[in-house]
Amino acid sequence: MLENKERTELSSLGEFALINHLTEHVELYNTSTKKGIGDDAAVIKYDNEAHTLVSTDMLIEGIHFDLTYVPLKHLGYKSVIVNLSDICAMNAKPKQVTVSIAASSRFSVEALEELYAGILVACKKYNVDLIGGDTTSSQSGLIISITVLGEALPEQIVYRNGAKEKDLLCVSGDLGAAYMGLQLLEREKFVFKDNPNIQPDLDGNDYILERQLKPEARVDVVDILHQLNITPTSMIDVSDGLASELLHLCKQSQVGCELYEDKIPIDIQAYELAREFNLDPTVCALSGGEDYELLFTIPMSDYEKIKDTRQVTVIGHITAKESGVNLIAKSGTSHPITAQGWNAFK
Ligand code: ADP
Ligand code: MG
Repeated sequence: MLENKERTELSSLGEFALINHLTEHVELYNTSTKKGIGDDAAVIKYDNEAHTLVSTDMLIEGIHFDLTYVPLKHLGYKSVIVNLSDICAMNAKPKQVTVSIAASSRFSVEALEELYAGILVACKKYNVDLIGGDTTSSQSGLIISITVLGEALPEQIVYRNGAKEKDLLCVSGDLGAAYMGLQLLEREKFVFKDNPNIQPDLDGNDYILERQLKPEARVDVVDILHQLNITPTSMIDVSDGLASELLHLCKQSQVGCELYEDKIPIDIQAYELAREFNLDPTVCALSGGEDYELLFTIPMSDYEKIKDTRQVTVIGHITAKESGVNLIAKSGTSHPITAQGWNAFK
């Protein structure tokens, strides 16, 4: 990492100079941010009727990311996105983030600059304000903890537990591509370890690599639902794989579900690469993760409103709890869905 590059030791700056250095280009985009970085606490004031939503995610080097193939700028971007996605999954709009980092002496000032460059690109793109954080050292590697704050009217907030029998099950975008991107990067890392002279063969896979390295949060889908005057009955974001998220929704809503295999949206590049890797594309969509799409249910009466929305696909419907959570295969046979989603403790 960062060989042949200018390298300034973290210790040469000290904590306060480092904080100033990393945050000097922070811009604020929201009037609800009354005070950002620079005091003992940030100050926020949302519209009177709005509720505040809060979510936190921690990312640990070696567990959640591998710096051998993830550029720091992408890591910064993605760290923000995964948090914004959680607010979207409540049908709310993300507004502010705090970013806390712990870095070992292996990291230089330039490395953290790269990380922050990615963080600031994400903040700008999504109109989210970086309003604070904490900076400290670590004995091994990099830890990033981000907290996001968001805003929504109480009647618009969507929980995981509201799905009703006969509701339609919908998902935004496509699934499985981020997982295939990871498979591709892992393969190239392996090849590179074996023979460092071989250049990575990543051509023609831009979309799936982008899905892994630079995912997006579906704020656009939250806006579309709002414009269509649809409030989902339940919603969750797809971070651990469709199967795992669907089981969460159904369990919390106390319902069952029929998911149609032939309706699951899978990108053609992801589909073909899965076949090349001898993987079943459906399994990749079900058990891969990190797509950060929105999985939600709507009343059947909203079908006409959503059917022409290209960002959303209807993939199934909600049934009684007793019927269980099932995949209806292309052949027409029914299979119980089990959680094979990514598990941090596996
Ligand atoms: P305190 O001593 O109160 O913890 P700090 O010196 O840690 O304050 O932080 C000073 C200011 O800089 C605060 O507004 C804090 O939120 C902000 N800050 C600290 N670290 C970061 C960081 N990594 N990213 C963004 N803001 C930060
Ligand atoms: Mg502090």
